[in-house]
Amino acid sequence: MSYVFTPPKVVSVPVTGSHLQYPVHRIYCVGRNYEEHAKEMGYTGREPPFFFLKPADSIVFVPSGEIGNLPYPSLTKNFHHEVELVVAIGKAGKNILAKDAHSYIYGYALGLDMTRRDLQGEMKKQGRPWCIGKGFDHSAPIGPITVASELPNIESATIELLVDGNVRQTSTIQKLIWNIGEVIEHLSAAWELQPGDLIYTGTPEGVAAVESGNLMVARLSGLPDLKIKVA
Ligand code: MN
Repeated sequence: MSYVFTPPKVVSVPVTGSHLQYPVHRIYCVGRNYEEHAKEMGYTGREPPFFFLKPADSIVFVPSGEIGNLPYPSLTKNFHHEVELVVAIGKAGKNILAKDAHSYIYGYALGLDMTRRDLQGEMKKQGRPWCIGKGFDHSAPIGPITVASELPNIESATIELLVDGNVRQTSTIQKLIWNIGEVIEHLSAAWELQPGDLIYTGTPEGVAAVESGNLMVARLSGLPDLKIKVA
């Protein structure tokens, strides 16, 4: 068989402590999954979770111990960080119950749901899709994946983001409005999950803009730091 052009490379993320690469299928993201962030975005209470996607090739992988480079994207003047726990799905499933969800998880990573906030806001105002604000090139930085069995206390891990050494976001995974199992239950009711699906589980409060030259350091207990500089 001959392709019309060379097919794109498989996007993949290395697994810590192994030579394996985790091939990425889709990137799902959860909106407003921490109460204080929902409030800073102008919402209250426990609304049903909602989802959006980023293209698989918006991944920017940063190896542990290195500083990645993140291009400042086009069209925006308000480029926001959102630090998030990323769940890596390991097997296919639909209509998964929260109590069974953990057997579908391969591992976890630390990610940034980078956002062109001004474009997202404009689309929201007009009732239009968020793609241009959320699903742009290089919008999904991520560190290596750690297998789930090595992170038994993930549900109580602390998560934070520093910009040039100053803490911008700090919280714990316990504060997720919809916990990891519940997210998988809701998501798998709407799509059949596949191995290779990444889920960015939502960001705590403190989202704000970064500028060219800023160094972002994301931390989550049990995972290597994710360091990336805005070019
Ligand atoms: Mn987010």
